[in-house]
Amino acid sequence: MRALVYTGPHSLALQERPVPAPGPGEVLVRVEAVGICGSDMHAYHGHDTRRPPPLVLGHEAAGRIAGGRRDGERVTVNPLVTCGTCAACESGRSHLCKDRQILSMPPRPGAFAEFVCVPEGNLVRIPDDLPVAKAALAEPMAVSYHAVNQGARLLGRPVTGADCLIFGGGAIGLGAALVLAMQGARRLCLVEPNAARRTVIARSVPRIRCAAPEDAEMALDAVADLILDAVGSASTRKAASRLIRPGGVIVHIGLLPGMEGLDIRKITLQEVVVSGSYCYTAQEFRDVVAALASGQLGHLDWPEERDLSGAVEAFADIDANRVGAPKVILHCN
Ligand SMILES: [Zn+2]
Ligand SMILES: [Zn+2]
Repeated sequence: MRALVYTGPHSLALQERPVPAPGPGEVLVRVEAVGICGSDMHAYHGHDTRRPPPLVLGHEAAGRIAGGRRDGERVTVNPLVTCGTCAACESGRSHLCKDRQILSMPPRPGAFAEFVCVPEGNLVRIPDDLPVAKAALAEPMAVSYHAVNQGARLLGRPVTGADCLIFGGGAIGLGAALVLAMQGARRLCLVEPNAARRTVIARSVPRIRCAAPEDAEMALDAVADLILDAVGSASTRKAASRLIRPGGVIVHIGLLPGMEGLDIRKITLQEVVVSGSYCYTAQEFRDVVAALASGQLGHLDWPEERDLSGAVEAFADIDANRVGAPKVILHCN
């Protein structure tokens, strides 16, 4: 099979590899669509010690089961593999499993390939009328959905009465905006430096207002009850600290290195809650597949679609900021 192999910093190669054989409890999935994630870019830059080369990246996959009793069934893949028996798993917070594994991190190869092996319990069936490229959005949308749920839980009330601000207009930030719009957030603003992305987002999310970072405070009247930081840089943390209301919640999703920017004194004096957010529970993943299928998350026409044969170029284009779309989806078969 063809597989895109990360061979070292800024280096990828399309290679011929044997089709993997499913282990106990696993099934073989013929990958039809797989998204390129910010975390794949992070690995590509050589910054993710959890993803050492040589490695097949990619964890946002959808396709068809190949072989066995469910042969041909259309599925999307929850790439987070958990033990099911530890305290976190038993309490319904399987994303905090002490033994969690993710497709594209050793020992599990990723899905930038024609086939990938996945535990059967990680497959979610998709309806016939949901296009496979949209089904591949389940993983990033589940990340967004969990972050919003985390924010609402910590805020102690539904987002319907909340003024919400998002940093970052990649797929996670856009997804968070779509989830907040679906849940009826009172006011919805997003800060993103790339003008092409701001245009896509303004077109895709009802009632949203977008601004460049330098204009955000003027343009958005940006004080917020809930801030989702899908960038996670020193400057976004600093802005979030400044713009959060007393008693508000900052949910930190971005995975850039560093920890500067938070105003701990304001967090203390104004009882601001700051929380990380990572992945999603298995139930949240299924909820998102249902929301994608029912159209509640919009028309989903914002990803750019390419073939696996153009993957090396796609990474280079994203790296050089030549892609306006918040997500690139690769077709593998
Ligand atoms: Zn991802
Ligand atoms: Zn566990």
